[in-house]
Amino acid sequence: MSDCLFCKIAAGEIPSKKVYEDDLCYAFCDINPQAPTHFLVVPRAHIQSVSAVTEENAPVVGHIFAVIARLSEELGFAGSGYRVVSNIGEAGQQTVPHLHFHVLAGRDMTWPPG
Ligand code: AMP
Ligand code: ZN
Repeated sequence: MSDCLFCKIAAGEIPSKKVYEDDLCYAFCDINPQAPTHFLVVPRAHIQSVSAVTEENAPVVGHIFAVIARLSEELGFAGSGYRVVSNIGEAGQQTVPHLHFHVLAGRDMTWPPG
């Protein structure tokens, strides 16, 4: 999608602090971190949110979770635990309408989230 912030970040058209990339997804540090480690993983293809996941585009979601599991090992927070969050729509407080998974680590999380 031409006018989408995360499409542009994944394409390298807007700078970001890269954590990981492959053909299907791009991971980068959140600009406003909420934990000592806070990065976002997005599909390169534009999908609006979890609500727009279908049987056809769902494989990239599984791939992203496999990438998160691998990064959690490589970056050293798999053992201590972490949180993966995806906000959806207005009540879910989604501010960027391109599917993204927040990965938060490095502190004890609270429950329930606000
Ligand atoms: P959400 O509110 O769940 O839609 O998450 C959007 C996230 O994107 C927020 O945590 C923002 O801090 C983050 N964000 C917005 N713009 C940028 C950017 N240019 N680079 C990195 N992270 C960003
Ligand atoms: Zn997009």
